[in-house]
Amino acid sequence: MAEQNHYDVIIIGTGAGGGTLAHRLAPSGKRILLLERGDWLPRELENWSSHAVFVEFRYQAHETWYGEDGREFHPGINYYVGGNTKFYGAALFRLRERDFGEIRHHDGVSPAWPLSYDDFAPYYGQAEELYQVHGHRGEDPTDPPGDPYRYPAVTHEPRIQQLHDDLERVGLHPYHVPVGVRLDEQDGRILHSSHCIRCPTFDGFPCLVRGKADAQVIAVEPALEHQNVELLTGAYVSRLQTSDSGREIAGVVVEREGNEERYSADIVVSSCGAINSALLLLRSGSDRHPEGLANSSGLVGRNYMRHNNAAFMAVSKQPNPTRFQKTLGFNDFYFDSGDDFGFPLGAVQMLGKSDEEMIRGEAPDWAIWKPRMALDEIARHAVDFWLTTEDLPNPDNRVCHGQDGRVELHLRESNAEPAARLRAKLHGLLEQLDFHPHHLLPRSLYLGKKIPLGGTAHQCGTTVFGADPATSVLDLDCRTHDVDNLYVVDGGFFPSAGAVNPALTIMANALRVGERILERLG
Ligand SMILES: Cc1cc2nc3c(=O)[nH]c(=O)nc-3n(C[C@H](O)[C@H](O)[C@H](O)COP(=O)(O)OP(=O)(O)OC[C@H]3O[C@@H](n4cnc5c(N)ncnc54)[C@H](O)[C@@H]3O)c2cc1C
Ligand code: SF4
Repeated sequence: MAEQNHYDVIIIGTGAGGGTLAHRLAPSGKRILLLERGDWLPRELENWSSHAVFVEFRYQAHETWYGEDGREFHPGINYYVGGNTKFYGAALFRLRERDFGEIRHHDGVSPAWPLSYDDFAPYYGQAEELYQVHGHRGEDPTDPPGDPYRYPAVTHEPRIQQLHDDLERVGLHPYHVPVGVRLDEQDGRILHSSHCIRCPTFDGFPCLVRGKADAQVIAVEPALEHQNVELLTGAYVSRLQTSDSGREIAGVVVEREGNEERYSADIVVSSCGAINSALLLLRSGSDRHPEGLANSSGLVGRNYMRHNNAAFMAVSKQPNPTRFQKTLGFNDFYFDSGDDFGFPLGAVQMLGKSDEEMIRGEAPDWAIWKPRMALDEIARHAVDFWLTTEDLPNPDNRVCHGQDGRVELHLRESNAEPAARLRAKLHGLLEQLDFHPHHLLPRSLYLGKKIPLGGTAHQCGTTVFGADPATSVLDLDCRTHDVDNLYVVDGGFFPSAGAVNPALTIMANALRVGERILERLG
């Protein structure tokens, strides 16, 4: 292979994992190649159009995948420089300390991680600093220990502050959601130096003014300022090839502009997202790796998790003129339902504010409201919540290539009962506050499709890490047990998912693995 096509490190994928890793490795002076199947996300007015983003799905990948029963669906997935962080809500949480241990749930056990919270804590701190997380440490009683956030919490707007006060009044512990945002404000006033203008199009939209702390803006672009780092966009990695021994990656095969290209590196890192990294390994099988690359455990693609997520809109009696709504959450039922049930229920946080356009898309489901309130009036009074219950790893929940190479995603839900109880808790609470009765309306547009299988936003678990090669794909450094120079740094390594959003843990882990890779490169 031509020497110019050989690198010290190749990173496949530029999202939360790959982008952050590139940022960590860039100052080393090592020759680094980033391979990204997507392009730069176009900066255009449609970035902030609800219709373009949530009705036309302008930026979503045009892919058709299949469920176990053969039913087709379109995954809510995005291929761009920066990966899914271009669209994320940037709620950047540490897993709770107890999430690293075994936890008994209604439907089974959430397994312990092979490393502890203390192993991750320093990297969480680095990731929070890098992604400019604004928060208030310790306000949430489930918060793990750590230094105060460098950036102050994003202030609540008046309606959300009122909700905060009401929740406190009924004995709960609302907190400020930690958000990765390039925001400078004083007493709720945006300063001239701020990139973010606190607009209503945060959650699920790309940011037109580079205010969101996404992997493109925070990690990839600064990495590319180093002359030793190169990026190829539109570079779809179709296969990884091994040496004759099967112990090293000898070639990375790329489809780009209709041609096939081949690159190599001393170290190859897959960070395609939990689903696409598993698919890449599975389609890179060979005589030495008959069940797929690095799959001697048989676990590649299995134990897929994605959280039991649900979006709800409540209709408040008062108007809700909030613009930036994702500032409040409460975890009072995270580990314990607080009643006879006794099992964990999960997390509640606010979602981006719904508008008339989004509500129109969902209106057929909400016939009960239509005679009473016009859609624009519902939108004016809407308050939006995001509920997350932990789902459990199950080897039968898997992603794989089916007939003719099509992508199949097999999923049997777990912890449906706690998820329903969390919703009932919220319903009961709103009953006591200032909301209409019958007020919790399911919102599915946020996930991009009404088909639940398509909600892949929090994908993780498909290349689990662990000390034992028989029960894990990756070792504790996220290097594959079977192939010496192959690492995976996306969400695939999670042994269990907790019930907080995954991106900060993926970023922190990428910084941790980056340190190991730098030690190895010398
Ligand atoms: C609408 C939405 C809202 C979200 N909100 C939050 C939130 O508030 N907080 C939070 O913590 N998380 C949130 N998430 C989840 C978060 O975005 C993901 O957990 C995170 O981006 C995953 O990081 P990753 O590195 O595993 O994968 P990604 O960020 O998806 O990056 C994978 C990259 O690999 C590229 N790629 C894939 N296959 C190939 C291939 N074969 N060749 C080359 N390149 C390839 C992709 O194009 C992509 O750039 C949200 C996600 C969505 C979609
Ligand atoms: S709220 Fe801020 S970061 Fe989010 S889209 Fe608007 S300007 Fe960008």
